[in-house]
Amino acid sequence: MKLKIPEHIKNLIPYPPGKPIEELEREYGVSGSIKMASNENSLGPSPKAQAAIAKALQDLHRYPDGSCYYLAHKLAARLGVEREQLIFANGSDEILALLAEAFIQPGDEAISSHPSFLVYPKVTQAQGGINRGVPLRDMRHDLPAILNEITSRTRLIFLDNPNNPTGTIFSRMEFEDFLAQVPEQVVVVLDEAYWDFVEVGQQLDARSYINGDRPLVSLRTFSKAYGLAGLRIGYGLMNREIADCLNRVRPPFNVNSLAQIGAMAALDDDEHYTKTLAMTRDGIVWLGEQFRRLGLRPYPTQANFFLVELAGLDGQTFYKAMLRRGVIVRPMTAYGYPDFIRITAGTRAENRRLLAAAAEVLREGTA
Ligand SMILES: *Cc1c(COP(=O)(O)O)cnc(C)c1O
Repeated sequence: MKLKIPEHIKNLIPYPPGKPIEELEREYGVSGSIKMASNENSLGPSPKAQAAIAKALQDLHRYPDGSCYYLAHKLAARLGVEREQLIFANGSDEILALLAEAFIQPGDEAISSHPSFLVYPKVTQAQGGINRGVPLRDMRHDLPAILNEITSRTRLIFLDNPNNPTGTIFSRMEFEDFLAQVPEQVVVVLDEAYWDFVEVGQQLDARSYINGDRPLVSLRTFSKAYGLAGLRIGYGLMNREIADCLNRVRPPFNVNSLAQIGAMAALDDDEHYTKTLAMTRDGIVWLGEQFRRLGLRPYPTQANFFLVELAGLDGQTFYKAMLRRGVIVRPMTAYGYPDFIRITAGTRAENRRLLAAAAEVLREGTA
C-alpha cells in the first residue's frame, strides 16, 4: 500500500466497538436481553417525536434545513438566548469534533480528565493536537490540577459535568473559581449531556457564563433524557464569536431533517420528559440500595447511570456472565477501570432483572 497515513491518525484508538444486540444474543444463546450499557432512555423515544417523524417521512427526498431554523427559534426562545448563539450537530459528539477542527492546530493542546468521555482525546488527536489527561481525584474532576496543566499551547478544556463514567459533578462555586483562573484564550467546553438528571439546585446555568470574558461552550444532547440517541442531534450554547467559528467548519447539512423534527416535538413533550426524570430518580435510588446490599460499591451519581466497583471481580468477566443472563452492562476496561462496570438505570422491570442477574452471578460465580 502506498497510503501515507499521518502518524497522529495511526496513533488514534478507535472508539470501543459494540456488537449489535442481535449478534450478542446469537453468540451467547440468549434472547430478549436488556441493554443497560449506553446511558440511553429505557422509556423509549418521546411519542410526540415519533408521531412528528412519521408525518415527515414523505419529505425525505429534500435536503434538511441547513440552519435548523425552526428548531433554533424554538430553543432560543425557550432558553432566553439569541439564535446565533446555538449550534446544532449530528449529536453533541460532532460539536466536540467541530471545536477541535476550529481551535486545534498540530502541536496545540487540549486538557481532559482521565477517565472521562473517550471522545475528547480522540477529537484533539485527530487534528494533530496533544491531549493532556488529568487523573480524577476521588472520582471527580480535579479542577486545580487541570489549571496546573494549562500551557501557552492549551486551546480547549473538556469537562463533562456530570462526568461519564463516574456520574460526579462539581459545584457552582468550584466551577466559578476555576473559570476565573482559566486564561482568556482557552475555550472551556462544559459537556452537559446528563444535565437533565442533576438534582435541582445543583445544576449549573451555563447561560450565566457564555457571555462572560472566559470563552465557554455548553453542550446538551437529545440522546439521553429525550430518548433520541438514534436520531443523532445535540447542540451547543456559546457566544456569537465561537458560534461563528464553528459555523465555518460545520458541514452544511449536518443535522438530518427527521432529527430536527423529532427534537422540536420532544421539546414539547413535557409528559415524556417528566416521566423520564421520575423513572431515572426512582431507579438510581433503588439500584443504589440494592447494589450495596449485594456487597457491590456503587459511586454516588448525579446522572442516569452508576459506576459500580465489583467486589473483587473482573469487569470483563462480570460483563460476560451478565450477558449470558441477558443483561448488557458496560465493562470499564477501556476507561482504565478493569474491576468496574457502568450500569444505566432502566425501567422498574429492567432494574429488577438486572439485580436478579447480578445476585445470581455473585452467588454462583461468573461461569
Ligand atoms: C452521551 C454523551 C454525549 C452525547 O453524545 P451525543 O453525540 O449527543 O449522542 C456527550 N458527552 C458525554 C459525556 C456523553 O456521555
